[in-house]
Amino acid sequence: MPVCEKAYAKINLVLAVTAKRPDGYHEVQTVYQNLALHDTLQLTTLAEDRIILSCDDPSLPAGPDNLVWLAAERLKRFYRISRGVHIKLRKRIPVAAGLAGGSSDAAAVLRGLVRLWHLPWEKEALVQLAAGLGSDVPFCLLGGTALGAGRGEKITALAPCPHFYVVLANPGFQVRTAEIYRSLTGTDLEPGCDLTPMLRALACGDRDAIMANLSNTLEAAAFRLNPAIRDLKDKLARKAPSLMCGSGPTVFALFTGREEAERTALSLRREGIAVWLTETFSQPAAGGE
Ligand code: ATP
Repeated sequence: MPVCEKAYAKINLVLAVTAKRPDGYHEVQTVYQNLALHDTLQLTTLAEDRIILSCDDPSLPAGPDNLVWLAAERLKRFYRISRGVHIKLRKRIPVAAGLAGGSSDAAAVLRGLVRLWHLPWEKEALVQLAAGLGSDVPFCLLGGTALGAGRGEKITALAPCPHFYVVLANPGFQVRTAEIYRSLTGTDLEPGCDLTPMLRALACGDRDAIMANLSNTLEAAAFRLNPAIRDLKDKLARKAPSLMCGSGPTVFALFTGREEAERTALSLRREGIAVWLTETFSQPAAGGE
């Protein structure tokens, strides 16, 4: 019997880059939030020991360069599984858009293979496997609303975020996360960043305070490299509180009411901008606890 998993996109309500580490990575403090927008994966066991990936987006690699393939390979190696798997991936999350599509697909493969092969839900081991695949993968494995520290991979679950409609707007080009981090200057960093106002807002379910405390250190660097992202954010910010998603270039805007979100999505679409209307999704992605 095949197993199906949904791989949800994420935004960061706060993304504070606090320092550059000696290992080249950056230290971050972030609040992750899942969105309802998702890719879908179907996993079927193969008798022969190989990983086959079929994807409806031909621009993506179908071998070890795809995080989906790599996640399956790492999990098979960790649990010494000699069967294979055929993974069908239906992409809906835009690629290289700051929404962690690849990370979420990888996390969904870990969850899906645990179910497919009736493996134990060993949270620590799985989170470690996830962290080896990418900084956002542990959050994508667990899902919901969460605090991220370290490279983003140290996850603490938070109370679910109150509901928002979310308009995503993409300027039509891709951004390389590494390039954005490389171009950060010392003055961009926020060593004294304090997440307390956002955490308090989330704990109280205070939508206004959540919308008032959105922030992302990476915006300055991304705007310098691609001024079109700033233009897009300015456009959205005229409608609702807005922020760049992760390392960009997608920008999100939060709405409490559906009609206003729909109106905004429609008017951006009329201008030829790529737009998605989605909503926050706060169910944990993984059970086992
Ligand atoms: P990140 O911030 O981790 O770079 P992102 O959301 O900005 O994430 P992704 O959609 O994950 O970007 O894509 C980043 C790169 O990863 C792309 O250039 C793509 O070729 C590669 N990639 C590998 N596997 C996948 C996958 N399953 N889905 C999307 N991209 C993938």
